[in-house]
Amino acid sequence: MDELLRRCEEIIRDVNFTTVRRWKAEHPDGKAIAYFPVYAPVEVIAAAEMLPVGLHGAGDQLELQHADARFGSFICSIVKTTLELGLTGHLAPFDGLLFSSICDSARNLCFVLKRNFPQLYVDFLHLPHNVASASSREFLRSEYARLKAALERLAERRIEDEQLREMIVRYNENRRLIRRLYEWRAEEPHRIRAWELYVLVRAGNFLPVEEHTALLRQAQEGFARRQAKPRDSIRVLVESAFCEQPPLGLIRLLEEAGCYIVEEDFTLGRRWFSEDIPASGDPLWALAESYLERSVVSSVRHDGRRPRSRALIEKVRARRAQAVIFLIAKFCEPAYFDYVLFKRELEREGIPHLLLEFEEKMYTFERLQTEVETFVEALFFE
Ligand code: SF4
Repeated sequence: MDELLRRCEEIIRDVNFTTVRRWKAEHPDGKAIAYFPVYAPVEVIAAAEMLPVGLHGAGDQLELQHADARFGSFICSIVKTTLELGLTGHLAPFDGLLFSSICDSARNLCFVLKRNFPQLYVDFLHLPHNVASASSREFLRSEYARLKAALERLAERRIEDEQLREMIVRYNENRRLIRRLYEWRAEEPHRIRAWELYVLVRAGNFLPVEEHTALLRQAQEGFARRQAKPRDSIRVLVESAFCEQPPLGLIRLLEEAGCYIVEEDFTLGRRWFSEDIPASGDPLWALAESYLERSVVSSVRHDGRRPRSRALIEKVRARRAQAVIFLIAKFCEPAYFDYVLFKRELEREGIPHLLLEFEEKMYTFERLQTEVETFVEALFFE
């Protein structure tokens, strides 16, 4: 297990995208498409025999030297480090970049990159805002059809429905395994640490789905063999880190400070669906319908039929969490807008909560550590 987790950690820190370069060397005609969080229909990319790669900025691996000049100061770090990756040649292994309508910063990043890299295929996927409208399905299906046509041109090959259905099956299997690991972690949080599950799941952003599924199975066996003793910890749900990812050290700190993280929204795109996507019939329709009807609740996907603050309470109850920790990326508007509503609902329900703000590049966590320890202690002696 140690070796497996070390490998995953190495993969997610690697801003040279060695796994992508290796895949391209093994597939001379293959193309790699990086997608910005939170969600992208990876099945369509994979069905074009391309490698979909989840791009989550550069973490603490790059100094900002160019990107600051292209964006204002009040912009989250993932946007800046993603641009820095481009401006320093780190995105060279990619043939295309895909963005979607999650927030203004992500939208602007798409077009800044498009202008700076005219030779790259850079596309913006319009995910519907009004999921309750009957025409949203048609609209999203047509967006996916547009994406499929663009990828066909890039790959110089047709994408058959059968290939799309096959990819739906493979990604369903992968997501099912992840869901199982999440459920297991919630039952036995002393057996599966949050940072471990995080690196395992996030490593999938850089690997072909079959390879990642094999890795998850291996991890599952490793966790089953593990001798682990329960710790004195409180059950905590971590919310709002759906796009920019907190430093690994911060996730470890939460656990060491006495939290069992029983649910979180890290690398949410890999767990976007709460159940399998139908693998029969029109695959683009199945993907579009699933985005609207089978996806998790997130601050970047509005669903007027299901208020997000109520969904948060349901999640807290389902995971038997004793408290909520908001882990919000500095300047993340969708997270801060929702925080106001979440806070009100949690207080109405008498659920304790704590707000922590992070940036990709943080090396010391003393202040946050004191805050978390005080919060945990207060709950222990309540
Ligand atoms: S971290 Fe927040 S503000 Fe930044 S790109 Fe992601 S959703 Fe937008």
